[in-house]
Amino acid sequence: MKSTWVKHAISEINADYQRSADTHLIRLTLPGFAGIQLYLKDESTHPTGSLKHRLARSLFLYGLCNGWINEGTTIIESSSGSTAVSEAYFARLLGLPFIAVMPSCTAKRKIEQIEFYGGRCHFVESACGIYAASEMLARELNGHYMDQFTFAERATDWRGNNNIADSIFRQMQNEPHPEPTHIVMSAGTGGTSATIGRYIRCQGYDTRLMVVDPENSVFLDYWQQRNPDLRSPVGSKIEGIGRPRVEPSFIPDVVDEMLRVPDAASVATAHWLETQLGRKVGASTGTNMWGALQLAARMREAGQTGSIVTLLCDSGERYLDTYYNAEWVKSTIGDVAPWSAEIARLVK
Ligand SMILES: *Cc1c(COP(=O)(O)O)cnc(C)c1O
Repeated sequence: MKSTWVKHAISEINADYQRSADTHLIRLTLPGFAGIQLYLKDESTHPTGSLKHRLARSLFLYGLCNGWINEGTTIIESSSGSTAVSEAYFARLLGLPFIAVMPSCTAKRKIEQIEFYGGRCHFVESACGIYAASEMLARELNGHYMDQFTFAERATDWRGNNNIADSIFRQMQNEPHPEPTHIVMSAGTGGTSATIGRYIRCQGYDTRLMVVDPENSVFLDYWQQRNPDLRSPVGSKIEGIGRPRVEPSFIPDVVDEMLRVPDAASVATAHWLETQLGRKVGASTGTNMWGALQLAARMREAGQTGSIVTLLCDSGERYLDTYYNAEWVKSTIGDVAPWSAEIARLVK
């Protein structure tokens, strides 16, 4: 039975989308890379500050259209933070209670934002504990566990014209090299890389998809070995990306290449990007950009020209007490100076 509430909820989300603008594609001009253009799809400008705004919208629509979300349904999500911020926004839009289950080390700024949108936070000790705790809460409260790590890949429409990949290719149309040689993306759920990889194939582009993976993540090993039981005993230190288990939304066969990025290199690259953009970016954007710089250097070496696109996933303002706190970086990530020197050498 289709309820009037569900109908209304879907039209609320569609109206919110209609009021929204697309995100910018920023071109980075690096004198050291003649004939090679780098681009950042700036996902920090969504109303809730990250690419997870797209995912949250898709997950709510998916849950509503599947009959999983109804009037009064408590929404529960396991999240390292960003998804919960965006889902709290949509839960408030629909007047639904929202609970985020996350590791206790989550950035303070994100917790404040979830609470700002009227959501509640439920903390667990380890990054691995969020799944079971979410399932239990959903059972106890008779709520709906959104489960981004399972459904990100299928809630997003990769064929149509309302996904991030389509937007990137449209925005590239008037550039010197409109068809990117590479798109570089990191994986949290794996949903964005799945969307981009499938879209590239569906449209018949020759663009290659590189997925960059931080330390303590099993995605790269899984891509090589295809063992779905891989586990990492510790969580990723790069918020939003790298997982301790193989997430169902990570689709390895649409990925052409993977690269391991040291955490210190990710943070050093994020810091370097501030000098290029005039504003701070999150550490996963550093991971992405590190991969893009390696590819640019490889192309330069081979005498090739072309374009490389990657994502600016969220703003650094969320991480002032972590990635932009020298003490924290030193004790948690280590010395980033050698990596900063390496970047300076690369881009020269
Ligand atoms: C989720 C997230 C990613 C990765 O995106 P997925 O589509 O989940 O793989 C990268 N950076 C940040 C900050 C994120 O929150």
